[in-house]
Amino acid sequence: MNHDYYAEERKNRKPIEAPLKAIRANCLECMGGSVDGVRECTAPTCWLYPYRMGTNPFRASKSERQMEAAHRLGRRPNFG
Ligand code: SF4
Repeated sequence: MNHDYYAEERKNRKPIEAPLKAIRANCLECMGGSVDGVRECTAPTCWLYPYRMGTNPFRASKSERQMEAAHRLGRRPNFG
């Protein structure tokens, strides 16, 4: 594929506003659209590697945040 192919394809895309979705889309493009290829990426030194599955592994899970918020408010967490 040549450079013009990508230029044309990008022109027709909707902009991706969520950074993690943009990273995921970039990784899928990097691996030729292969979900398995992204999962099994062999480039851990790539800056996008930790985020390639569309999640931020450094962010506390929702339940951890709920526990902290409940602790701050002096309540038991409500997971319902
Ligand atoms: S982490 Fe880097 S090398 Fe791996 S798929 Fe994403 S962009 Fe490509």
